[in-house]
Amino acid sequence: MTQRNCCSKRITIAIDGPAASGKSTIGYYLAGYLACLYLDTGVLYRAVTWAVQDQDIPVEDETRVTRLAEEVNIEVLPPTESDGRQYTVRVAGQDVTWELRSPQVERAVSPVSAYRGVRAALTHRMREIARQHSVVMVGRDIGTVVLPDANIKLFVDASAEERARRRYLELKQKGKDVTYEEVLKGIRRRDTIDSQREAAPLRAAADAILFDTTALDIEEMMAAATRLVKSKHDRIGAIEGAEHGQV
Ligand code: C5P
Repeated sequence: MTQRNCCSKRITIAIDGPAASGKSTIGYYLAGYLACLYLDTGVLYRAVTWAVQDQDIPVEDETRVTRLAEEVNIEVLPPTESDGRQYTVRVAGQDVTWELRSPQVERAVSPVSAYRGVRAALTHRMREIARQHSVVMVGRDIGTVVLPDANIKLFVDASAEERARRRYLELKQKGKDVTYEEVLKGIRRRDTIDSQREAAPLRAAADAILFDTTALDIEEMMAAATRLVKSKHDRIGAIEGAEHGQV
């Protein structure tokens, strides 16, 4: 959770979409633009998954996984290192920011996220944050379940091939030994589990603005997101003020 400024008039922006659709890039940028909090809720599911693996709890053991989700201490803080991170994540006091991106966590996070009890525990934490702060919250079920009354909802999507291409380049840049086909397969697997699970499946809220980023680069994505949010400003009456740090 990264707070840049204190907002006097509370607003909530919900951004959902599949892996590597560009939703985190857009969310992070909009939070800075609006001077409000940014929360990438995927890191909470990843943090629980990391803790499950750290404690050698079998992912299939729903009762123990759920209990851990209810009890584990997760902190999402402003970056504590200048190594390209958007935030620092600590689990039980340990900095796990980069471990959360490991292939082991990546493989197990969707099954862990499908448990109702895990979702209930993390949804409760997310709503507490939104009750206290103006926030741009990014995830899979923010507009549909976590914050159904959000002022603005975006559903960000792109083709699976384009998303895999982006993720593949990102991993290669970090020196990871992966193939494009492996990355595409992993993305498709997570899409399937996330959108077919019974509890809070990945889908666009009926009142979400659909935003396809397949053909857009990062600058174009941010410009389009700013236009979309500005065009909604009458509805929430607060965005103009945010440009001057008043929201
Ligand atoms: O966004 P990210 O790829 O980090 O999310 C990791 C996983 O966490 C997703 O594949 C999904 O299974 C789960 N997730 C979720 N609901 C959210 C955010 C993430 O189920 N609101």
